[in-house]
Amino acid sequence: MLRSLKSRLTLLYVVILGVILVAFAASIYFTGRRELYGDFEDSVRRQAHAFTRMCFEDFDRLRGDEGKLNSYLKELGAAAAVFDASGARLYESPDGAPGFEKTRAAGEGAFHFRVRSRDYRFVVDTARDRSGSEYRIVFGLEEERVGRRLERMLLFFAVFIPAMLLIAWYVGRVFVRGALSPVDTLRKQAESIQRSNLSQRVPIPKTRGEIRDLAITLNDMLGRLERAFDQVNAFTSNASHELKTPLANLRTEIELALEREADVAAYQRLLASAAEEVSRMTHIVENLLLLAQLDSKQAVLRRDPVDLGDVARQAATDMEILGETRGVKVRAPLLAPGVSVSGDEVALRRVLMNLLENGVKYGREGGEVKVSVWKEGASARVEVADTGVGIPAESVPHLFDRFYRVDRGRSRSPADAIGGHGLGLSITRSLVEAHGGTITVTSREGVGTTFHVTLPAMG
Ligand code: ADP
Repeated sequence: MLRSLKSRLTLLYVVILGVILVAFAASIYFTGRRELYGDFEDSVRRQAHAFTRMCFEDFDRLRGDEGKLNSYLKELGAAAAVFDASGARLYESPDGAPGFEKTRAAGEGAFHFRVRSRDYRFVVDTARDRSGSEYRIVFGLEEERVGRRLERMLLFFAVFIPAMLLIAWYVGRVFVRGALSPVDTLRKQAESIQRSNLSQRVPIPKTRGEIRDLAITLNDMLGRLERAFDQVNAFTSNASHELKTPLANLRTEIELALEREADVAAYQRLLASAAEEVSRMTHIVENLLLLAQLDSKQAVLRRDPVDLGDVARQAATDMEILGETRGVKVRAPLLAPGVSVSGDEVALRRVLMNLLENGVKYGREGGEVKVSVWKEGASARVEVADTGVGIPAESVPHLFDRFYRVDRGRSRSPADAIGGHGLGLSITRSLVEAHGGTITVTSREGVGTTFHVTLPAMG
């Protein structure tokens, strides 16, 4: 098997050229052959006439001078015989090469010649002498000379075609190698790119064409891979960082408890604080696990008809208590009835709770969070709008990234008490996307933020 593209292309090129050359040679050969035989036949006829004329200009005299006829015929490479009307052979060329026989046919005055030799082409001529007697002249020319010319033609093709193919193979290889060398360069460069130097790119050839497109596509792919790797790296380091703090706190608390003896109440305080750290870690790990399951499509989400208005009302009611503690009013002014989607009620509740909770957490005292649900065409729309601190424009593109927090300093606010690890919105987006929906955000710093969720509606 020819595995390399170079060999296959060259072979294809040589085979095509070979077929063309053979077809071309065959057409020249057969046309040439037809013409050569045609010419030869004309020449046999012409020479037969010449011979007849020569014989009958002065036949009687020639009769005694056969030597002249003999040498004339020999020079031509011809053979001839002359018969009179009775079929008697008056003359025959000396070597008897034609080897023809006269047979008398049943019909009157008809002569048939059966030719025994294949090497001669014959014509039969009729002539009358002065006295009016009829003669038949059989004249033949060696056919071999045509055959020899055709053989020479075949020999030429037999040498010319393989020689051309050999040259074509060589030139083709050089040409194909030249044409494919950018692919080779590309391959070598792509080969040298490892995980450690994913920021490298393959050079883009200047000339337009497939190879340039391939290089651009490769670079795009490398860009996507680099971003994916960066995200994984950032995710791992963020996850470790988030877990490091509660673990360090836990360790300090345990060490404190071990260092000195204390009363039961002190131990209870320490253990309560340790339990809090453990629950923070459990919360993070559970969220990470959920994200991983959503990523790998392992999370099993139910597909039940869910009334979004009901879910939103319940979430708003649940969030009212938290809102009260922060001085933020949670309202649900527009909940259109009967807006249903096919999905997992628990997951959709979580989506709404996350959004409302953020609205409360990042809201301002005296402000409000509103949730609305309505149907628009084939979509169910949910909006959660707050009058809180807002999000700086430069943070909006990263808002749904894992562990992203707008301002780490800012989350030292009371919001931290509820536990903000920057995972809430990425889980929210994954859940919305798992339902075939989208989530976007519009925000103005100091004015408020609105999250827009669109889901495929039922019915
Ligand atoms: P967290 O658990 O820290 O709230 P999220 O993923 O829910 O994490 O949100 C990411 C960041 O986006 C938050 O840290 C916060 O800075 C910002 N954010 C989210 N919702 C709002 C909102 N309604 N108003 C202002 N900022 C918000």
